[in-house]
Amino acid sequence: MKTIFPLTLIAILLGLAPLRAQELLGIDISQRCIYTGEAMDEELYRFPRDERVDKWIRDIAEASGAPLDFEVVQTNVENISAVLDGEKRYLLYSLDFIEKSNEMLAVAALAHEIGHHACGHTFDETRRTAEELEAEQFAGYVLSKIGYDKQRMDMLIKLAPSAYDIPRQERRTALLEGFDKAERALKIASLPFDNDPALQALTLPGFPWPPPSCHTRFELPEKTGAAFKTLGDADVRLRRALDAKGYSQRSYFSVPDGFALVTQLEQYNGEDGAVRNDRTRWLDYPKKENFDGVMDYLKSLVMPQKGYFRLFVFVVTDRGFGGSAQRVSKAEATAWLSQGFNKLPASLAAANWSTGYGITALVYEFEVPESNRKPKQQCPTPHIDAQTHLKKSGIAAGLGL
Ligand SMILES: [Zn+2]
Repeated sequence: MKTIFPLTLIAILLGLAPLRAQELLGIDISQRCIYTGEAMDEELYRFPRDERVDKWIRDIAEASGAPLDFEVVQTNVENISAVLDGEKRYLLYSLDFIEKSNEMLAVAALAHEIGHHACGHTFDETRRTAEELEAEQFAGYVLSKIGYDKQRMDMLIKLAPSAYDIPRQERRTALLEGFDKAERALKIASLPFDNDPALQALTLPGFPWPPPSCHTRFELPEKTGAAFKTLGDADVRLRRALDAKGYSQRSYFSVPDGFALVTQLEQYNGEDGAVRNDRTRWLDYPKKENFDGVMDYLKSLVMPQKGYFRLFVFVVTDRGFGGSAQRVSKAEATAWLSQGFNKLPASLAAANWSTGYGITALVYEFEVPESNRKPKQQCPTPHIDAQTHLKKSGIAAGLGL
């Protein structure tokens, strides 16, 4: 019986899946980028997905931290395309194009189109050039992270079409900018000691200053820094408090007379600000060993439920500051993490903690509403105040507050 059962099951499955006519995709492709910029066939059909392409897509998402919040379809598109149909995003690919291209071109084209989704692009003609260059930068970042040689980027620019009338030179610049950004991040990760002179040669990127508006803020009491001698002491205190609560991914930026430490974007419990103790906490940065989290994320989008995200920015400086009028999108805030350094450079760490220095916690909140999946910043009335966020996240306890 044991041996017969699987065979029976297979027979049933085969019987239930007769050869079907090709399934018409039926989506509106007017808002799109196609890698070559050419016209697109309106009649698209859905074909079975290819495992190798699926793996490349996962690799790209992992290298960039981009969420897989789009549907992937193998279809009769000319090459690779990103489409926004209403609220839903698609990544369309032609297996024929993939097979005819060399691997680098195929991955670069996929990364470019995934970059459009990761950056929340709308494919509006008025934003075309900016969006194209942003997607190209994203592709450069991914190619570097995946391990392609910088020398080969010029070959890629020759192979790649110059879509949407964007001069090759501009595309090249954007691609290399992205590439360098990733290389810099790798360099820092590979430096054995943070007093390595190579690190000092790199400039810490600046945090937008004054910080973008629509955050809640809390000045840590003066006693927090009473024993600090250097800015590095403040960094150590913050890091310990963050590590203890699972905020292991973070990024450093320079601010006037000091630095800013940005934590990873986190989904939290919307009712009281508490930490979510499940895998939905870090959805925007799926790790390899936790790839299932991405599936849950996709499911959570299909079955609408309200979501709240936040990130903490700890500003260490002796300068007073307000907020700028500029707001920040969830995509921009997420990008902060990949743009900054992952260590505080030794020169800044050694700087004196003198009178007037303090730590200010800023909390940026984003809400993903039920009906409209576009995240929006909580503004002007924040959901929960900064002090409550610090308490509920457990960071306050780690800081001795
Ligand atoms: Zn594009």
